[in-house]
Amino acid sequence: MNNEYQYSFKVLGSCIGCKTCYRACPVGAIQTGPIRIDQDACIRCGKCESACPGHKIIKA
Ligand code: SF4
Ligand code: SF4
Repeated sequence: MNNEYQYSFKVLGSCIGCKTCYRACPVGAIQTGPIRIDQDACIRCGKCESACPGHKIIKA
């Protein structure tokens, strides 16, 4: 994990793969199939967390 940040966003195993978070990410940090967040590319903006209709992305 990038030590510059105090927290990260994680995708829960119950994600249904709708890709809404993928489309919401401004820096292309989300990879598909399965959905994963590249922690080195993520700028911790929280847009994926807000966008997920099933609340499958959590800040931890
Ligand atoms: S927190 Fe922001 S930068 Fe990080 S994966 Fe989510 S939308 Fe992308
Ligand atoms: S928006 Fe939520 S349910 Fe959809 S792919 Fe992303 S994490 Fe999974």
